[in-house]
Amino acid sequence: MLSADFGDLASSVLVVNDETDWLHVDIMDGHFVPNLTIGPGVVAALRPHSEKFFDCHLMMTDPGKYLADFAKSGADGCTVHVEVGHTADLITQMRDLGLRVGLAANPDTPFSAVEPFLDRIDLLLLMTVFPGFGGQSFIGDVMDKVRHAHRVISDRGLSVDIEVDGGIDTATAPIAVDAGANVLVAGSAIFARPEPLVAARALREAASLSRA
Ligand code: ZN
Repeated sequence: MLSADFGDLASSVLVVNDETDWLHVDIMDGHFVPNLTIGPGVVAALRPHSEKFFDCHLMMTDPGKYLADFAKSGADGCTVHVEVGHTADLITQMRDLGLRVGLAANPDTPFSAVEPFLDRIDLLLLMTVFPGFGGQSFIGDVMDKVRHAHRVISDRGLSVDIEVDGGIDTATAPIAVDAGANVLVAGSAIFARPEPLVAARALREAASLSRA
């Protein structure tokens, strides 16, 4: 959603409804990342317009302060960054609020940082760009971490989604799926195109070309 038209968010998001599964909402606090985006108020305002799963990615230094607000505003799942610490407490808090639990790691954060929490989360978000701004290029080196995470998750018989976020387009989507990602976040590859719905369909097709 980061690359959608913020002046007309609800319509902009609804345009791609038929070719998307989740709505990924990037929340930036101006501290964990330099950029500022939106807060729970905008999530609440969008909620009546969409029945999609609201996947809120909290790029925030202190997400614990706001989890209850996001739950109340209609978030289905929240993802916090492992880099901000207090991970065990944040997971408990999300679980208690009835949120689906996600944990994110930046491109330079090793897999060992998230590994201890794998059996307590529903989604592992491995950033394929440094968070903060849309429109960046995909960091291919992260695919080693995706492959490793996929192997560990399957070996342990866990059901944890592997999400990639940043630089996903029709060229990189199949690479990420081949490495083991099953949730792909796309922003500018959809909303910066003249026909977002067509772009979303092309992306879905590109992603399904791998692992047939
Ligand atoms: Zn995100």
